[in-house]
Amino acid sequence: MIKVGIVGYGNLGRGVEANIKNAPDMELVGIFTRREPESIKTESPVFGLDLIYDFKGMIDVLILCGGSRTDIPEQGPMLAEYFNTVDSYDNHAQIPLYFASMDHVAQTNRTVSVIATGWDPGLFSLNRLLGEAILPKGNTYTFWGKGLSQGHGDAVRRIEGVKDAVQYTIPNEELINKINIGEEVVYDSHTAHTREVYAVLEEGADAATIENEIVTMPDYFEGYQTRVHFISEEELAANHQGLPHGGHVIRSGYTSENNHQLYDFKLQLGSNPEFTAAVNVAYARAAARLAKEGVRGAKTVFDIAPAYLSPYDADELRERLL
Ligand code: NDP
Repeated sequence: MIKVGIVGYGNLGRGVEANIKNAPDMELVGIFTRREPESIKTESPVFGLDLIYDFKGMIDVLILCGGSRTDIPEQGPMLAEYFNTVDSYDNHAQIPLYFASMDHVAQTNRTVSVIATGWDPGLFSLNRLLGEAILPKGNTYTFWGKGLSQGHGDAVRRIEGVKDAVQYTIPNEELINKINIGEEVVYDSHTAHTREVYAVLEEGADAATIENEIVTMPDYFEGYQTRVHFISEEELAANHQGLPHGGHVIRSGYTSENNHQLYDFKLQLGSNPEFTAAVNVAYARAAARLAKEGVRGAKTVFDIAPAYLSPYDADELRERLL
């Protein structure tokens, strides 16, 4: 059995806990949190993060579930000194720098760290690579949604007169349809997505003023097609509590002049964190196996052969899946 530890118990941490139960070859040693362990509601064992070093040698891999902005850049290098790790660091622009810092620590301390797993980065990155490798003549398009955007929801909730709100990012289906038939399109994030806001107003707030404030908000909504719906508190509670997300990675290319080829990888996720966690768990299996083979250093999804993700051995995989 591969022994797993969870660091951080937010949405992702809870998702990993749920997904370990689905893995036939893994067991959860414990959840490690910066908060009072007694304050965490779960049946699993919970420990203070300061005790984690006592578990060296008792955990094959740690899944790091902290936030990408400040938690992971700090906790990653600290923990990779003692443990094999997996994370879903998603600050795309900073990934090369983060990789370098994790690789240095992991090489020095003879551990394995799989960084930036999840779905984007993660499975989407892998599919962008496959699409480009297979169809060198073509274009890659990434569409996100329908998905809940936490940052945009927060921005609307900060407007005076808004009691509560959520925001969904929705891909432009018209553009996707054109790509599907091989048309060249102009793609930028403004035309590729629309934004849909569901907001509950405070009593007496003026809907028209607030709608205008939302659609003209710089950096968030300005330049985007935005639809605003004002709904009741009850409707928000009944219909907008999930954390859906997903999207497509599309590679549209030509293998010869008249042969258009379309590679479309699609995800439709009922719960973004639970799916991200499911990907983390598969890569945790890979990290534990690589470490056992003596591999060292930081890895991304590009570096790991698919067979390492599966609980089945190579003979069984050839029999079942080829
Ligand atoms: P959360 O905000 O839910 O949790 C982050 C951390 O905050 C937790 O590990 C926890 O640490 C702490 N925390 C959680 N709840 C509370 C609370 N009530 N009070 C105080 N502290 C709390 O973030 P998510 O789990 O939703 O996401 C984590 C990261 O995953 C994101 O930053 C994002 O970058 C990444 N992600 C990556 C994806 C990908 O495809 N690559 C997709 C989705 C997310 P502690 O227990 O130590 O207090």
